[in-house]
Amino acid sequence: MTVSPVTAPAVPVRPVAATPPRLEIRHLSRGFGGHAVVDDVSLRVMPGQVTCLLGPSGCGKTTTLRCVAGVDMQDSGEILVDGRLVCDTLFRVPPERRSIGLMFQDFALFPHMSVEGNVAFGLTGTRAEKRARVAALLERVDLGRYIDAWPHELSGGEQQRVALARALAPGPKVMLMDEPFSGLDNRLRDGIRDQTLEILKEEGAAVLLVTHEPDEAMRMADEIALMRGGRIVQQGAPYNVYNAPVDKAAAAFFSDVNVIRGTVRGALTDTPFGQFLAPGVPDGTEVEIVFRPQHVKIDFDRQGSGPLPTPRDGTPARGVVQRARFMGADSLVEFRMDHDGFVLKATVPNVFLPKPGTPLWLTIRRDRCFVFPVR
Ligand code: ATP
Repeated sequence: MTVSPVTAPAVPVRPVAATPPRLEIRHLSRGFGGHAVVDDVSLRVMPGQVTCLLGPSGCGKTTTLRCVAGVDMQDSGEILVDGRLVCDTLFRVPPERRSIGLMFQDFALFPHMSVEGNVAFGLTGTRAEKRARVAALLERVDLGRYIDAWPHELSGGEQQRVALARALAPGPKVMLMDEPFSGLDNRLRDGIRDQTLEILKEEGAAVLLVTHEPDEAMRMADEIALMRGGRIVQQGAPYNVYNAPVDKAAAAFFSDVNVIRGTVRGALTDTPFGQFLAPGVPDGTEVEIVFRPQHVKIDFDRQGSGPLPTPRDGTPARGVVQRARFMGADSLVEFRMDHDGFVLKATVPNVFLPKPGTPLWLTIRRDRCFVFPVR
C-alpha cells in the first residue's frame, strides 16, 4: 500500500500592521562647544511603557529629554511620535504641537492661578468642559476637594500631584519626566511614585523618565536605558540590566561590588575562591571577577583556622572581620581576606553582626559573578 504524503494546507500569510512605537528616538546626537553630550542615542517606547534613562550626573539624560520636548535642538538624529516625524535637522514641530507632556522636579505650579487654573492651563473648550476635565483629573490624583485651592495651600506632594494632573490634562501621547520625585521626602515619595505610575499606565502614554537613582529606575521602569558619557551602554528590563551587566561600571551603578583580579590561563583564572571560567578570553589577559556583597555567603558554623570545610559553593576562603555595620534590614560586614589582604564586603541578614577580629570562612555565589576583561 502506498501512503501518500500528507502536506499541511498552506496557511495564508496576512501582513501584520506593526504598531509603531509611541516615541522613537533615532541616532540622536547633541554637542556643546565641540563636545558630544548626547552621542548617537536610539530608543523606542511603546504606549503604556515606562523607560528610564538612568545614569550619573552629566551623562546627557536631560539634554536628551530637552531635544525630545523640542526646547533644545539636536545636531543630528530624528524623533518620531506614533511613527510621525516631529523633528530632524531640517524639520521641526514646535514643542506645544508634539503631544508631549512635561513633568520636571522644578516644574512649579503658577502661584497666581488656582489649582483649577493650573490644570486647565493647556486645555481648550468651554469653561464648563474644561472644569469637568480638570475635576476628573483631580479626582484621579485624589485631590478633587482642592479644585479651588491655591498652590501655596498645598503640601509638596499635593503640588506634585497637581503638576501631574496638569501634564496629563491635554492627553499627551508621550510624558517626559525629569527627576520628578526628587523634591519629595522619602516617606511621600514611594506612594506618589506608585500612584503616578498607575495613572500613567492607565492613560497609555509612553513615558521617558530621567533619574540618577537606580532604585527609582528599578521600581518604575519596564525598561532601563543605562547612559554613560552621552551613550546608552545597556538597555533592557530592570531584572536583566541588574543581573547581566555589560561591564564593571554597569554592575557598580546598581550596588556596591567586590572585585577580584586574576590572569587567564587556559580559559580559567585563579582566585582565592577557586578557578573561574573565562571562556574565549585569550591567555595572559587580566580579568576582573565582579560580584555584589549580597552574593557572599558567610559560614557562621565554621570559625577560626580549622580544616577547610567541604566546598558546596566553590572553594571557601578565610577572612577576618574588620568592621560590621548594622544597616536596618541587613548588616554590612567588611573582611580582610587572608589571601593578599584584600578587603571584601558581604551583606548578611541583620541578625548577624560579627565582632571585629573574628575569622570566618566565606564562599561566593559563582552563578552571580561576572568576569570582565580589564580595559
Ligand atoms: P544631571 O543628572 O546632573 O541633571 P544629566 O545627565 O541630565 O545630568 P545634562 O544636563 O544632559 O546631564 O548635561 C550633560 C552635559 O552637557 C553636562 O556636562 C552639562 O554641563 C552640559 N550641558 C548641558 N546643557 C548645556 C548647554 N546649554 N551649554 C553647554 N553645556 C551644556
